[in-house]
Amino acid sequence: MPKPILQIALDVPLNRLFDYLSGGLHVLVGQRVLVPFGQRNQIGIVMGSADVSEHPLEKLKSIKQAFTDELPIDEEALGLIKFSAEYYQYPLGQALLSALPARLRQIAPAVSRKQFAYSLTDLGCSSAIEQIPKRQLLKRHVFAALQENEVITEADLDAISNSARKAAKLLVAEGWAIAKQVQAIQSLMELPPVDVPELNDEQAHAVKQIVQDLEVFKAWLLHGITGSGKTEVYIRLMQHILVQNNAQILVLVPEINLTPQLETRFRSRFAGVPLVTLHSNLSESERLHHWQLAQSGAAKIIIGTRLSVFTPLPNLKLIIIDEEHDSSYKQQDSMRYHARDLAVIRAKRLNIPVVLGSATPALESWQNATGNQNKANKYNLLSLNQRAVSAAKLPVIDCIDTTKVNLQLGLTPQLITALKLRLARKEQSLLFINRRGYSPVLLCSACHWVAPCMRCSARLVVHLGQRKLRCHHCGHEQNIPKQCPSCGNADLHPTGHGTQRLEQTLAQLLPAARIARVDRDSISRKNALVEILDQVHNQEIDILVGTQMLAKGHDFPNLTLVGVIDTDSALYSPDFRASERLFAQLMQVAGRAGRADKAGQVIIQTQFPDHALFNALRRQDYASYANALLLERQAMQFPPASFIALLRAEANNYAPVQQFLTFAVQLAQNITKSVMVYGPIRPQMERLKGLERGQLLLQANTRADLQRLLKALVMQLDAHALSKKIRWTLDIDPLEL
Ligand code: ADP
Ligand code: ZN
Ligand code: ZN
Repeated sequence: MPKPILQIALDVPLNRLFDYLSGGLHVLVGQRVLVPFGQRNQIGIVMGSADVSEHPLEKLKSIKQAFTDELPIDEEALGLIKFSAEYYQYPLGQALLSALPARLRQIAPAVSRKQFAYSLTDLGCSSAIEQIPKRQLLKRHVFAALQENEVITEADLDAISNSARKAAKLLVAEGWAIAKQVQAIQSLMELPPVDVPELNDEQAHAVKQIVQDLEVFKAWLLHGITGSGKTEVYIRLMQHILVQNNAQILVLVPEINLTPQLETRFRSRFAGVPLVTLHSNLSESERLHHWQLAQSGAAKIIIGTRLSVFTPLPNLKLIIIDEEHDSSYKQQDSMRYHARDLAVIRAKRLNIPVVLGSATPALESWQNATGNQNKANKYNLLSLNQRAVSAAKLPVIDCIDTTKVNLQLGLTPQLITALKLRLARKEQSLLFINRRGYSPVLLCSACHWVAPCMRCSARLVVHLGQRKLRCHHCGHEQNIPKQCPSCGNADLHPTGHGTQRLEQTLAQLLPAARIARVDRDSISRKNALVEILDQVHNQEIDILVGTQMLAKGHDFPNLTLVGVIDTDSALYSPDFRASERLFAQLMQVAGRAGRADKAGQVIIQTQFPDHALFNALRRQDYASYANALLLERQAMQFPPASFIALLRAEANNYAPVQQFLTFAVQLAQNITKSVMVYGPIRPQMERLKGLERGQLLLQANTRADLQRLLKALVMQLDAHALSKKIRWTLDIDPLEL
């Protein structure tokens, strides 16, 4: 780098780069370096160089070290992060450093452990298992695996046992096997062969359309009902891409829980193609290793959750976003980015195709695919309207009016009968309730006191199993009071249903049923979810009770009944996205019923069976409901009919919050007239974790108007004295108000 002054991004909350001298070290843009900053040393990333600095040269410090054993972050990835930091009004250095694996943020070279694959030597091939003493079981096991497979990886060994690597090393020491360093962590063991289905007409059409234009940016919205074979379409597209030299494919999934099944499916279809996963369940060293395999180009298929959208991928040729509507793609703290939106931007910058798949697309995407956008922004719509397995029928959906029947412990007779029928037929049922805990309210029957959280504007949830009251917002926990703190009455009632109570109710009504509960409390232990899902697959569970965790992606062939308990609060919620989300959720849960050869039934308990949402759901008609919601959004001028940002502020008391936000209103109105400002108002949850909250809603007709305002606004707010005393954040394209 010929220019003497390096511009370096640091992990500090200031939106600027810092000038350093190279100190004679030869560094590249994107390289990790160590620099003195204040009293300490910090890791930074070189963003560029210059001939002059705004500071006098003699005041500049020199970088201390450059980590030259690592590949620099390439320009394309840097560019995306830069775009993102600007768009979401977040300090570039912080955006950049938080996009890296933790190991790359530490002040040390990021050597990642080498990976080995094992195979038999000639000596090993001519040896027999009987030569290994019987009690060395594991060694025998590993030897047998080596006899069956030409090569096995450490991942394969781990699958055999925790100590299988040791056994393999013993075989190497004895000359029976050799270890070779390998590039990718990938299973080289042969997976059982799978049937490759013949595409149906809709799938074939989708694939044909997309592969016609693989060399340019095009955004495809693959709208396909659950079980319509979207994943099969992804696989065919990936095959087309992978024949190109070195091509890489990024597959985004909303949740860690969904990676294993996709991984297995891809591995069985792409034998020998290096594949890595990137998500927060990996150990730090695994994550670094996978990331480096992606960065070096060695990994060809990268399956990752939202943060992986920033991974440097030198030969990226296709991006797939599964369940593109899922709100998990939006980061809810620090830089509040939306991984789907950034993925589309990335594809555009790279001039490659991007495929967004969903049974219930986000209204933003639906509008992009069906509305009157200018050509440049328009998505291309592809639909899969049939379930791929021809025998699999769509479930029948019934809404039962809970005001017209006698409920037994909160359940309608129709649902109880249906559950009994499934038990008799040895089929499985799923009951969906979006509330964990025993019951959402502890109520005094005499004075109507309800147990509140002292730190939040929220009620405490009864967790009867642990005999505790818990706040689901701040985590506060306390004992259940023996009598009403307000009037002394001893008759306190848990009121309303949560997952725990539903589980208990079912055990009471159907004593023979084997019941499992899936919610955040029951699966907090690692692998707990996997174990429950295994039990379901092994027919050891008759009824699953759970929250939306269960709604996503899991495939249970013997499940024929889905019951939905009490989702009415979302029908008339003040959150403008509540009905969109509920519809998506219910379509997802409904999609769990009757996947294989057995027809499914869905029973929804509601006080409003004639609500438009349920009418559309009964017809499984996403399109008409989405169009109706779009009209509503248009009338209300909510996204996607407008572009919004939320300025949130919080402090120990409300006065400075109000003062700060009022100042922001004046600023905004001075800066522009083309953005509407609403507020300051208090959000529905006025107090959270002991802090008083307030917010402003900024609303514009174009992204550009909003962006111009935000840029100027943030600079001036940063300079305001109060900005250091209160906490404030900006959420651009917020999902929740
Ligand atoms: P989606 O991703 O839309 O939910 P999947 O791709 O998982 O759907 O497909 C659902 C099921 O149908 C899977 O078991 C898959 O193997 C099977 N499948 C997909 N396409 C076909 C096809 N063309 N013919 C037969 N079975 C198919
Ligand atoms: Zn009372
Ligand atoms: Zn609380």
